[in-house]
Amino acid sequence: MSSSKDSDRLLPVKNRLEPFWLCERDPVLQNARTTTELPRAVDVVIVGSGLTGAMTAYHLYAEAEKIGRRINVVMLEADEVCSGATARNGGHCKPIPFVGYRTEASKHGQTIANQLLTFEASALKQYADLVAKEDINCDMHVTRAFDIFFREDDAASGKKDYEARKSAFPNDVNGQDIRVVNDPKELERLTGIKGGCFGANYPAGHLWPYKLATSLIHIAIGRGLNLQTHTPVISVKESNSQPGQWEVNTPRGSITAGQVIVASNAYTSGFLPDFKDLIFPVRGTACSITPAQSHSYGASPGPIKYTYGFRHGPGEVDYMIPRQGRGRIPGVGDKSYILGGAKGCFLNDLSQWYDNKQDDQYMPGAKEYFGGFMKKHFADWNGNEKGNVDKVWSGILGYSADLLPYVGEIPDKPGVFVCAGFTGHGMPRIPGCSAAISSLVASRINDGFITANAQKAFQDALPQPYWLTRERYTSKVNLIKAAMGQGDKTKGALENSDEAVLAGRAVRAKL
Ligand SMILES: Cc1cc2nc3c(=O)[nH]c(=O)nc-3n(C[C@H](O)[C@H](O)[C@H](O)COP(=O)(O)OP(=O)(O)OC[C@H]3O[C@@H](n4cnc5c(N)ncnc54)[C@H](O)[C@@H]3O)c2cc1C
Repeated sequence: MSSSKDSDRLLPVKNRLEPFWLCERDPVLQNARTTTELPRAVDVVIVGSGLTGAMTAYHLYAEAEKIGRRINVVMLEADEVCSGATARNGGHCKPIPFVGYRTEASKHGQTIANQLLTFEASALKQYADLVAKEDINCDMHVTRAFDIFFREDDAASGKKDYEARKSAFPNDVNGQDIRVVNDPKELERLTGIKGGCFGANYPAGHLWPYKLATSLIHIAIGRGLNLQTHTPVISVKESNSQPGQWEVNTPRGSITAGQVIVASNAYTSGFLPDFKDLIFPVRGTACSITPAQSHSYGASPGPIKYTYGFRHGPGEVDYMIPRQGRGRIPGVGDKSYILGGAKGCFLNDLSQWYDNKQDDQYMPGAKEYFGGFMKKHFADWNGNEKGNVDKVWSGILGYSADLLPYVGEIPDKPGVFVCAGFTGHGMPRIPGCSAAISSLVASRINDGFITANAQKAFQDALPQPYWLTRERYTSKVNLIKAAMGQGDKTKGALENSDEAVLAGRAVRAKL
């Protein structure tokens, strides 16, 4: 029987808006339950079947193979498979190449600030290698991203970030092939976009995130994964009867596990209350757009080739990918663009986005904003009166209080691991974070504790600001609102500091 407390619980809501990416659901996995009943005891429970849960399961089986162990893993999913942010995002794997560098350097030093950026850049190759190795059909496409700055003050700040990183780490900046464009005319000529005052381009990619995640889950099932959809976790407690084990509770029964990996992103505090001040559900929106005749092959200006970040101001970033068709053969199938953002429409009404889980509802003004977007920004666009917009949807992002993901074992909860809080910017972070957490968990399974070597490998693999330290775990600082330009003016403290405002320029806001 469910109580009123249960109905208030932070879980995915029913009847959510339909995103483009769910137009080709996986009929085998959608509502799958590998076994009719839940297993009673396993080595690992993974909570969540989005990209983080899927990649973690994939890496975990690879780790188990390395150490020659059979492992029992169950993946619990509250709703249908992979129906959260991964099925509602922009499909954009866009490492941030320099924006925010000085802010991070002032907090963590230049080496770590640079590491945060090189970590993201390495994700593109990880995706390409994985897709090639496993022959995954997810429309993976490697191209270049163009960041366009529309405001002079934002552009000036971006240029300073670029210069600062370049002078400290010229090899990394050159190695990442980051090129800046200072001349607005040249910028428009290269991009077809009107009104930008500064731009930068660098390698990036796009793919169909749902197809990647479900393909990885299929592979993991082939190696023994038990997937249980429509099975929300409601609590994780220390087992009374079996010391050192965790009891993962769901409305369908409990599972005892030595290890739990929390990959539930925005919804984490729904069953781990300590995360209530750490990860917040933040509502965002995106849409799909059919290319106009003017931007199709054989026309002028012709097809859009880059992916884009449209930087309108702190925290206010639109992003777009031009899909190249479906399957393993680029050019076949629909080539819709995915465009997200529209933050200017609702950012100043906190209730519309902050601590909001209603992705069953449209964001106010988003449809109209997206409808006018292409004509406003792309020279010679000749789409229809609705701006060629097809589907508009909402999605729930997991924003972390300090704007960086939490990755690691929870202090005082040995065996419970978290990989969440991607703050609207999971694609360039999830491959590295999920691999690092999997190797930590494998060490614990193999040795009964996390060995010093495994701990060191984890720390070497991940930028230190991502580690789930006790300090971060107990921190009460929340930079989210200020980073989005909506700080509480009645609070004089850190929440409104330059640091938070600068972080807003850096924040990988994908609302
Ligand atoms: C509109 C929008 C646009 C975005 N655009 C981009 C982009 O272009 N590039 C980018 O890098 N990032 C983007 N993001 C962010 C990106 O989608 C996320 O960072 C990423 O998908 C997170 O993956 P995840 O697996 O951690 O979370 P999710 O995909 O949200 O998966 C978490 C899963 O956990 C399940 N779950 C929750 N609670 C429970 C529970 N109690 N029990 C069991 N299961 C539970 C959920 O149902 C869900 O399936 C965007 C997000 C949105 C919403």
